Amino acid sequence: MSVTLVRIEGMEALLDHLEGAIEQARAHVTRALGDGQILAASDDHVVRALNLAAELQRLTDAVLVESVGEVVRRSAGPDRDLRLTARRGCHDVSELVQRATRMGPASAARLQRGAKGVALGESLSGGALPALLPAMRSVLLEGEVGIDGLVAVSGPLEAMSQRVPLESLRVADAVLAAEASGTGPDGTPPACADLLRVQAQAWAAALDQDGAEPKEEQAIRMRGVTLGVARDGVVPLRGALLPEVAAQFQRICDAIGSPHVGDGVSFRPEGEGDSGFADDPRSSAQKRHDALATALSVAASSEQLPTIGGAAPTLVISVRAEDLVSDTGWAHVDGIDEPVSVRAAAHVGCAGVIQRVLLGGNGRIQRIGTEERVFNRHQRRAIALRDGGCIIPGCGVRAAWCEIHHVTDHAQCGPTHTDNGVLLCWNHHRFIDHGGWKIRMNQGVPEVMAPPWIERSPRWRPVTTSRTRLLDLVGRRT
Ligand SMILES: [Zn+2]
Repeated sequence: MSVTLVRIEGMEALLDHLEGAIEQARAHVTRALGDGQILAASDDHVVRALNLAAELQRLTDAVLVESVGEVVRRSAGPDRDLRLTARRGCHDVSELVQRATRMGPASAARLQRGAKGVALGESLSGGALPALLPAMRSVLLEGEVGIDGLVAVSGPLEAMSQRVPLESLRVADAVLAAEASGTGPDGTPPACADLLRVQAQAWAAALDQDGAEPKEEQAIRMRGVTLGVARDGVVPLRGALLPEVAAQFQRICDAIGSPHVGDGVSFRPEGEGDSGFADDPRSSAQKRHDALATALSVAASSEQLPTIGGAAPTLVISVRAEDLVSDTGWAHVDGIDEPVSVRAAAHVGCAGVIQRVLLGGNGRIQRIGTEERVFNRHQRRAIALRDGGCIIPGCGVRAAWCEIHHVTDHAQCGPTHTDNGVLLCWNHHRFIDHGGWKIRMNQGVPEVMAPPWIERSPRWRPVTTSRTRLLDLVGRRT
């Protein structure tokens, strides 16, 4: 009984102390920071303020974690009406914590996760049982580790607690707690949360050899990509990628998105510095979309994909010939119900194959043309040599990722000749009309004119990033 009494006295004293500390701190914080004194403070004082506030916060984290753990314990009983959450009119622990602390749901969830590893258990007789991670609990209560570091450690350790012997778990707990408080054998300073996470994951990988297997099986089951129903002109894409597939996708995005030219391509807007052409108005999500479009387009023409009926997987878009010429109306992509603009059809047709099929008024096929407008690989290689990459200045997408654009559209009788083909990346090819860039061929040399919002007095300039032409330019100047 005396033990219980001491505990309660301690708890009341803690609450009194916290109240007093809050009152004092409030007065000092308002006075010291209120009129901007930090502006005049020394470097040492600014950094010291960070140190001390964080230490105070780690101690507060201990009180928060411990209290949340207790709320969880008191809200777990089988009788719903007896649960603390129900008695306070809350649906669950998260709601109670959010209301009591004014935190958001993410922070409330983090406290719950942290509490899992360090909350004391309760024996049948009502006594306290040690926490799952007693060493982490100690450094938490000493203010050596805060909620970030605690979650970084307790997450991986707690996840394997069912599969790993308790002694092994406790060894990891002790070592990581020592790292967190800077009392490890190698004398390193207290570890930040990120480092603790890496170390905890290393421990998990070492102790829980079988853990990777169930996790991977689960991941393999969860993998998937779903194309939704087209709406508002876009098809929603949902899914979960295996990590290595996501990494591959990220690498492709990086490769397509990173400009690699810029060694003096002799094309800068006057008086507007370097950024004029480098500014890419696309969001990161839009860039990823365009990278995926590029990768699909490259894959489809790589001749390495399985064929369908003896031909490479070909995107079939149908459009009325007069609509294609007049740039109006709708086109239809085989396999997707949502109609696309004629502009989209023209893009696909420009980079790919157009086969003319003349349908009679009753739908009968009256005449078919042969596939006639693909640049062959010799032409492609020559154009790549001449242009080096996407010809829009500042773009930098390399030749291998580019499509060949018919400068004079095939529908307008533009020939499939190197003098009529230039390299454009997927984005610039698809949206060439939106961006305002103009392209023309001048005696076989591609020239572009910047839109007025980039260059105030636009004029035609030859563009090419070909190394041989750059050498020529240098040669002429010297
Ligand atoms: Zn481009």
